[in-house]
Amino acid sequence: MTTQYQAACRGEITPEMARVAEREGSSPEAIRAEVAEGRLVIPANKRHLGQEGSLDPMGIGRAITTKINANIGASPVRSSIDEELAKLDWAVQFGADTVMDLSTGGRLDETRERLISHSTVPIGTVPIYEMIVGRRIEDLTHKEILACIEKQAEQGVDFFTLHAGVLREHLPLAARRLAGMVSRGGTLLARWMTYHSRQNPMYELFDEISAIMREYDVAYSLGDGMRPGCLADASDEAQFAELRTLAELVFRARAAGVQVIVEGPGHVPFDKIEHNMKLQAELCDGAPFYVLGPIVTDVAPGYDHITSAIGATAAAYHGASFLCYVTPKEHLGLPRLEDVRAGVVAYKIAAHAADVARDLPGARQWDDEISRARAALDWSKHFALAMDPEMARELHDADTPKDADFCAMCGHAWCAVRMSKAMKDWKAGKETDGLEDALARLSPPELEFLHRRRGLAPCHSAVTADAEEARAVQKAVTALQSPDDCECG
Ligand code: SF4
Repeated sequence: MTTQYQAACRGEITPEMARVAEREGSSPEAIRAEVAEGRLVIPANKRHLGQEGSLDPMGIGRAITTKINANIGASPVRSSIDEELAKLDWAVQFGADTVMDLSTGGRLDETRERLISHSTVPIGTVPIYEMIVGRRIEDLTHKEILACIEKQAEQGVDFFTLHAGVLREHLPLAARRLAGMVSRGGTLLARWMTYHSRQNPMYELFDEISAIMREYDVAYSLGDGMRPGCLADASDEAQFAELRTLAELVFRARAAGVQVIVEGPGHVPFDKIEHNMKLQAELCDGAPFYVLGPIVTDVAPGYDHITSAIGATAAAYHGASFLCYVTPKEHLGLPRLEDVRAGVVAYKIAAHAADVARDLPGARQWDDEISRARAALDWSKHFALAMDPEMARELHDADTPKDADFCAMCGHAWCAVRMSKAMKDWKAGKETDGLEDALARLSPPELEFLHRRRGLAPCHSAVTADAEEARAVQKAVTALQSPDDCECG
């Protein structure tokens, strides 16, 4: 079985590369070249691709638009397959490019299988979560690790988070931290290493794991078990020591023909984000960087979709290609449907803002289109182009009649957009009722605003039918102004 990476290295353009090119408005050859360099990853397990009407291939890399992931999954406290399927639907509806099933409770196999067969976007997992169901982490054997990875690969999982980069030597570095280790996978493996006085089994088994992943073309998402859990621990020696090991594993994964993404922090002060992104790109030879936020301040539990979206925009601008969403429930509880929506939308905003700033072809077009609809007070188009059309419509309709040429923010008389539009219409000769009538409908503040605007005055010969109409307009306007202000020509 050939992986996307192996095919690209041989110069072959796969149907998945062609589809990514089509979705991104790029050329298949450009996508192939990026995959061959390891800078673009197409997570597409052969088993998931083989399921009819299922996976629609997408790509992750700096050469194309920034992608976002939504985490879902049941917990031992709350589990329902139907609820997870509903979360998947919501995540995709609001724009998630991939979804990770992080279930640690409920019927894990059935949940995973149903999510994969239902999903048009790649599904990722953290296999160690399943490995410890029904057993203590200390009892986990190499054989059981490989068996679990093989089973999930066979089920069609498109990418695995494996914390293979956190080594025994790194553990003392975390002891100096304020928050210690905060990655679930990282701490489980730290416990295993401490108990057995042995190296990380994921690191030791890396070549065997790679062989399984190559067989199904599952992509690595090399987990950051040492990711900082607070600003005080950001960019410390523990984080960067692991990053150097992750860089080594990038080259080993590619040598094995397996696609690879690298995971990153976590919690990072805003001013340190650029350095983190550039260091990863340099050490990991351009392998796509997948970051969780990062959260830029620790003081806003309940609003971490915002604290992290700020960091995510900076991360995507400076080098990340894949953003893992954070929901308002971060640090507080299991996300529910509304949290999934809030997190996905926050991250679509973060990714798009970075793409606009990176001047990616076509990114700004969306902004310009919605701005044109806004300037024309075309509410239907405004809603249709909105990132979350339902929310935009709901907020508008709550206080304003649906067909009004203003909204409840300023009201009719003070709607600057409406006044600007009216002026443009007059100048373009679109006003059919005649200027005098139109001016008579304006309130004094509107007329004043109109006059203060630069450009042609409403009584200009270019916008009035004849001298008589121009005089009528002047009369109406000068009632509200000093003669010195007149701009007529
Ligand atoms: S009323 Fe105010 S906020 Fe609403 S469209 Fe007009 S200018 Fe914009």
